[in-house]
Amino acid sequence: MDLDHNACYRAICQRDARFDGRFFTGVKTTGIYCRPVCPARIPHSKNVIFFPTAAAAQEAGFRPCLRCRPETAPDLGAWRGTSNTVSRALSLIELGALDEADVDGLAGRLGLGERQLRRLFRQHLGASPVAVGQTRRVLLAKQLIHETRLPMTEIAFASGFGSVRRFNETFQELFGRPPSELRRTSGPDFPAGPAGEIVLLLRYQPPYDWVAMIEFLRRRAIAGVERVTADRYTRAVQLNGFQGTIAVQRGEGNALRATVRFPKLSALPAIIARLRRVFDLGADPLPIAAHLAKDPTLAPLVKARPGLRVPGAWDGFELAIRAVLGQQITVSAAAQLAGRLVAAHGELFAAPEEELTHVFPKPEVLATADLTSLGMPRSRAAALSAVAAAAVADPHLFDANCGLDDAVKRLRAIRGVGEWTAQYIALRQLREPDAFPAADIGLMRAMAGREGRGHPRPSFLTAPMRGGLGAPMPRNISGRQPEDACISIVVVSCARSEGRDARPIPPRSRRRDLSALCRWIRAQT
Ligand SMILES: [Zn+2]
Repeated sequence: MDLDHNACYRAICQRDARFDGRFFTGVKTTGIYCRPVCPARIPHSKNVIFFPTAAAAQEAGFRPCLRCRPETAPDLGAWRGTSNTVSRALSLIELGALDEADVDGLAGRLGLGERQLRRLFRQHLGASPVAVGQTRRVLLAKQLIHETRLPMTEIAFASGFGSVRRFNETFQELFGRPPSELRRTSGPDFPAGPAGEIVLLLRYQPPYDWVAMIEFLRRRAIAGVERVTADRYTRAVQLNGFQGTIAVQRGEGNALRATVRFPKLSALPAIIARLRRVFDLGADPLPIAAHLAKDPTLAPLVKARPGLRVPGAWDGFELAIRAVLGQQITVSAAAQLAGRLVAAHGELFAAPEEELTHVFPKPEVLATADLTSLGMPRSRAAALSAVAAAAVADPHLFDANCGLDDAVKRLRAIRGVGEWTAQYIALRQLREPDAFPAADIGLMRAMAGREGRGHPRPSFLTAPMRGGLGAPMPRNISGRQPEDACISIVVVSCARSEGRDARPIPPRSRRRDLSALCRWIRAQT
C-alpha cells in the first residue's frame, strides 16, 4: 500500500485528526513511531517514514511513542486496502486465530496458500501476519499498563502473551526496559483476578451515532441475557466454559467505555474483538460517507445521519438463532420468543446481577431440545434445530473464512435458512461489506417510502427511533479504483417487520450500481 509522503507530511504538520489510525509516522532519528496527531515537535521531512499500520512500523524496528500512544489510535485495520481477504484475516487474528494455529493454518481457513496470504499482508498492511498479531498484543498491553492498575503478571495474560517471561522479554526488547517502568502513575495494583473487573476504552474514528446503536440493541434485547438502557448495554456471556458480564457505555473522547468482568484474563483480546464487532468500531466513517455521497439518493441520508454503524453480533450462533426466530415476525415479537427460548434452554448465570439470569443456550443443547412448545410454527422450530445441529457439526460455521458467496452458500445449506437470513448473518456476524439482506421488507419500505410506493423518502430512513437504522458501507473505498467499488448499501432491519418476504435479488443489482439497486427495490414494493 503506497502512502504519499508529502500528503502524510502535510497531515502531521497540521496534526490532522482525520488521519488518526490511517497511517503512522516512524521517526528515523529516535526509532519511535507516532500517530499523525502526536503533540511532540514535528521532525524534518527527510527524517520520517510513513507506515500504513502500527504493525508495519513495529516490524521495521520502531517502537510506539509514549506521548501520543499509538495504541489509542482508532483501529481501522480492517478498512485498509482493497482486500476483503485481508479484512477477514485481520478479524480472525483479532479473535485469536494465530494463538490457536500458525500462519499456514490461518491461510488454510481463508482458502489461500501461506505465501499468498503473506503477500497480501505485505501489500495492504506493510507487515507480516505474525507482526500484526504481535503488535496487537504489545499495544493492548501498553493500553492496560497506562489505563488500568492491573498488576503486570495479569496484563501479560490479559493482552494475549502466553507467559510473563515472553511479555517481559518483548517489552525489554522494544523499549529497553521492563513493562512496569512504562507505567507513569503510582499507587497500589488492583488485580482483576477471578472476581475483579477490567475497565478500558475502545476507540473509534468519529462520528459515531451512539443513539442509533443503543436503540437498535435495546429493541432486540433478550430478557435474562441482555439489559439495555439509554446509555448502557450489559450482557451475560459465556466463553470457553467461563461465565462473565460485559457492559458498554459512552466513554471520554472518541471512545466507548467497556467494563469486563470475566474470570479468565486470557479471554480479554477475544472479548475486545467481539465488542469491536458488536459496536462496529473498526469502520472508517469519513471515506464511507464520501463514497456514498456520490449517489444523489443517498447523499442527503448520509449527511443527515453521520456516523451510523452496522451493529454486529456478539456470537454467530446466537445471531443465527435470533435471525431464524425473527423470520416473518416483528422485532419485539422475536425478542420475546428469544426470551422464552433462553428461559427454557439457557444455562443459568452463576452470578446473577442487574436482571442478568442466563447465558444464551449452547448449540449442543438446542440441537437436541424440543423447541416445538415455544409457540411458533413447526417449520421454524425445525429450522432452529437444524441451525443448532449445523453449529455443532462445524465449530467454524460462523467464522469469516472464505468470503460472502461461500458463506451464504454454506448457511443456505441449512434447512430453513434462506437468502435473507444468510445475508443477514453475513452482514452482522461475518462483517462482509458486500452482504445485503435485500429481501428485507423493512429495507424495501424504507427505500420506497412509507406506503411502499413512489420515490425514496429520506425522512423515513433517517428519522430517529423509527427502527430505521441504515449504515451504508462500500467496499474498496481506499482502493486504486474507487469507481469500481461494489456498492454495499447496508440497511439493517428498518421497519417493524424484519425478515418478511424472501424474494431473491438479482445478483447484478445487488452489486455494482447503486441506482439500479434502488430502482430494483422500488420495483419490488
Ligand atoms: Zn508520538
